[in-house]
Formats: sequence, C-alpha cells, structure tokens
Amino acid sequence: MKHIIVIGGGAAGLGAAFKVKRAADEGHDVTFTLVEKDPRLGGKIASDMVPDPEGAGDFIVDGGPDCFLTEKPGVHRIAKLLDIFDEELPTDDSRKRTHILSRGGLHDLPDGVMMFAPTKFVPFVTTGLFSWPGKIRMGMDLFIPKKKWPEGERIDETLESFVTRRMGRECLDRLAEPLVGGVHASDPAKMSLAATFPRLLDMEQTYGGMIKGFLAARKKVEEMRKKYPPNPGAKPRTFFTSFDSGMQRLTDAMADAAGRDRMRTGVAVSAIERDGKRWVVTLEDGERIEGDGVVVATECWAAAPLMRSVDTAIADALEGIESSSSATISLAFKEDEVGIDMDAFGLLCPVIEKRKMMAATFSSTKWPGRAPTGRVLMRGFVGGPHNQAIMEESDERLVEIVLSEMRDILGVKGDPLFSRVYRWHLGMPQYTIGHLDRVETMESRAREIPGLWLGGGSYRGVGIPNCIEGGEAGVSKILGEWGIELAEDSVEQKRYY
Ligand SMILES: Cc1cc2nc3c(=O)[nH]c(=O)nc-3n(C[C@H](O)[C@H](O)[C@H](O)COP(=O)(O)OP(=O)(O)OC[C@H]3O[C@@H](n4cnc5c(N)ncnc54)[C@H](O)[C@@H]3O)c2cc1C
Repeated sequence: MKHIIVIGGGAAGLGAAFKVKRAADEGHDVTFTLVEKDPRLGGKIASDMVPDPEGAGDFIVDGGPDCFLTEKPGVHRIAKLLDIFDEELPTDDSRKRTHILSRGGLHDLPDGVMMFAPTKFVPFVTTGLFSWPGKIRMGMDLFIPKKKWPEGERIDETLESFVTRRMGRECLDRLAEPLVGGVHASDPAKMSLAATFPRLLDMEQTYGGMIKGFLAARKKVEEMRKKYPPNPGAKPRTFFTSFDSGMQRLTDAMADAAGRDRMRTGVAVSAIERDGKRWVVTLEDGERIEGDGVVVATECWAAAPLMRSVDTAIADALEGIESSSSATISLAFKEDEVGIDMDAFGLLCPVIEKRKMMAATFSSTKWPGRAPTGRVLMRGFVGGPHNQAIMEESDERLVEIVLSEMRDILGVKGDPLFSRVYRWHLGMPQYTIGHLDRVETMESRAREIPGLWLGGGSYRGVGIPNCIEGGEAGVSKILGEWGIELAEDSVEQKRYY
C-alpha cells in the first residue's frame, strides 16, 4: 500500500487527506497519515461556540476566516461531497453596508463600487468619502490610456503603483488600501497584483481602464444572474458564504470524512528526509514515519527549514516569502446596551487614519445566528504589516485597545459580556513583487522530486477554496506519478449556484 504523509492540518492539509481517502474509496491502494502540530485541526479556520454568560443562548465566534468567496467552486464542491452544502450560510444582504473611516468621520462605501472602481454615477458623485479633486482624478481613469508593457516580460506592478497611476492617491488611501490590500493584510507598496488580483491587470489591457472594466464585469454579472436565476426557494447567492455553525464546520467535516484515526495532532514535524524512493518524516517526539510521498501543507516559514535537507532552492524560495501577524478580537454585547446602529457588515479603517484597529466586522449582522436574540457580536482586527508592534501587547490589552477604538470610532457603549482573542502569528503570507517567481521556482523544483508537493495559502491564493485545491493538487501530482488517476479529476468543475 502506498502511503502519503500530509504535514499540516489546515484547509490545505485536510484537502489533501480527504483526497487520498477518496482515492482509497475508489479502490486504489493508498492511505495517508496527517501530522498537525496544534491539538486542534483546521489551522487558521477556528470557530468556537461560546455560551452567553447570562444564559441567553450560544454565540458562534470565528477566530480566523469568517467566510469564503461564493464565486470560487472549491468549497462548494467539498461541501457537496461532505453533504454539508445545505449548511452553507449566505450573508444577510438586507443589512449590507460598509462604513469607511475618512478624516475622522464615518462614510458608507458608495453603492456600485467594485473593488475600488465606481460603477454607479449618483452614489459616487454624492459620497463624502472623497474630495472633489479626488473624484475628478478617479474619473480620469476613463481617459488614461492603458500601460504598454515590454513584450515577453511578466506583467506585474504593486497595488499602490497601479491604483495611483489609474485612479489617483486618494482612491488608494481611502478605498483600495483598506478594501483590496485589507483582504491580504498587505502593504500596497509591496503587494504584487499579478499574484493577488491578476484580473485587474488584464482588465486594464482588455478594457483600457478600471471603470470600463468593472462596468463590463457588472453587466456580465447581471446577465449571468438572468441566465441562471436562483431556483425557487434556494438560498440567496451572496458575495461571501459561511456555514451555519461557523467556518470550522468545513474542516471538521473534512477531518471526519478523511478519518481522524489517521491524524496525529499536538506534535510537530521536525525533519523530512528522502531515503531513495522513501520519505522519512521525524516528529518532535522522536517518532519516525515512513511514506512514499509527502505533501507539505504548513505555512511557508514552517516549510522552509523542513525543506532545507530536501532541496535548498525550495527552502531559499520559501524563505523569500514574508508573512505578517494579526489578531482578531471578538466582543459580545447586549443589543440594548451597544448604543449604535448595527445595520452594517462592518468598518474599514484606512492606514492613513492612523488607528490601532484595521477593521471591524459586525458579525451578528453579517451572519444570521451568530448571536442569541437580544445580543450582538462584533470583531476587530489588529496587526498587519503596518502595525506589527501591537502583537507584543497582552490579550487583555488587545481587548482594551479594540474596545476603546470601537467606542471612539463607532460610538459603542456598554461593557462586553465576554471577549475572545485569536492570534495569528505570521498568519498572513505577503504576496509581494516577485512572489510568482518564488512560487514557480519552488513548484518547478518540487515537480522534479518524486513524491513531493507543497501547497496551501502561502503560494497560490490565500482564500480557503485555493488552499483546499493546493492540498489536493499535491495528492494529484503524487498519485499521477504512481499512474493513479481519480475519476473525479476527469470531471469538469461545475457551477454550484
Ligand atoms: C485573521 C484571518 C482572517 C482570514 N479571513 C479569511 C476569509 O474570511 N476568507 C478566506 O478565504 N480566507 C481568509 N483568511 C486566509 C485563510 O484563512 C488561510 O489562507 C487558510 O486558512 C490557510 O490554510 P492552509 O491550510 O494553507 O494553512 P493553515 O491553516 O495555516 O494550516 C497550516 C497548518 O500547519 C501546521 N504546522 C505548521 N508547522 C508544522 C509542523 N512543523 N508540523 C506539523 N504541523 C505544522 C500549523 O499548525 C497549521 O495548522 C484569513 C486568514 C487570517 C489569518
């Protein structure tokens, strides 16, 4: 029997393990062992059910990701396989509004803004979010010719350079940095568009500008909605999706389906060696596990030292990927004490506002069922590349900081019923300029080494669907080397909505 060792029990590692299990279920003679250093499986995906201290019911608190992008098929496909598709939870779009802090005041994200391009005239011209010179400069995107790139070179540019070139500095500072950079908790001055939002570079070349590109995209979305109307009684198709009981429902169900008896938790892998065609993985407690293949699904900085003894070029490429730390701080309040209008999904604080909190989500508004009746749940984000120093603060201090930011910016009153702090040490890989070169170097070397693959959020997309697919790709590569092709791999990806 062939044995694949999966290192890391996040979305990518569980994606890999579940794929090996499906191969075994198809009758192939394969198995896996998954090793996860934490006692809990799920990696960055972490949901807790927290009882209300006064017995009002349970809160569902997501400490890491609270959703995935609906348009990407990866999670829907797995949810169908796991029979939890019906537990997918759309956002409550009747209350969809995003506040943006600008010059100390709160503004709503104007209707029709797609990423950072306005596609509706009236909301754009009437918003107080931008100054008049700022609006005029954004409108100039309609007339600025597309950039001509040298033939044969990779087209890439930082978010900062792209947005300031097309739409001006104010658009970057007040909209693109918090909205687009925020998704990656990245510094726009370093963030590679080719690695994060290649579509923006394509749009410029295809449509000549962002406004024209997003107007065309909006038209296409509207046409698709007409062509594929939701089935009567179907759940609404919202931009983001979660699960009724929190995001960890997904990784828990993947672990159950793959087989928890094949998973070792609470122990880290300390070394990987290649011994001829065999792989030997040493755990920090001294145990050695032998296998025929290894999928490394840890963060890049954890994979780098493990890869040093296998291939120095891979280790060097991984060391070139920076990561930043962040924390989420969830606070629960009594609805009649919180003192603010909760009809919004959240708040973005652009870096130029110099706040300690980067953003806040009104979790119980965005997701039905996150708080019991009469209670609300909010969470603040701190850290990111512009404020790593805050990560030195204690949990108690982080709660104080976020509470004081919520009071100051949003006018929150009352005292929290409870708080939960989740720290993500080096949890966000930074896709800086050169990222794709580093990933291609790593992948081209790994392609040449039989039985090896590295996948996960550090490489080809931080989104959960990408991470799952990254882990699965590792299993497909290794099984392919053994002449095994899964029936599911020849089936075209279908639409789930
Ligand atoms: C605060 C936050 C919010 C986010 N929000 C969203 C969101 O809303 N939507 C979205 O799509 N994405 C979001 N992301 C990104 C997304 O959560 C991650 O990209 C994704 O979960 C990463 O999955 P992964 O399996 O690649 O890595 P991880 O989840 O990091 O898993 C890697 C695992 O490897 C383990 N490990 C490390 N070293 C070893 C070792 N030596 N031996 C054994 N195990 C080891 C780690 O303990 C970890 O469990 C967010 C990320 C953060 C930090």
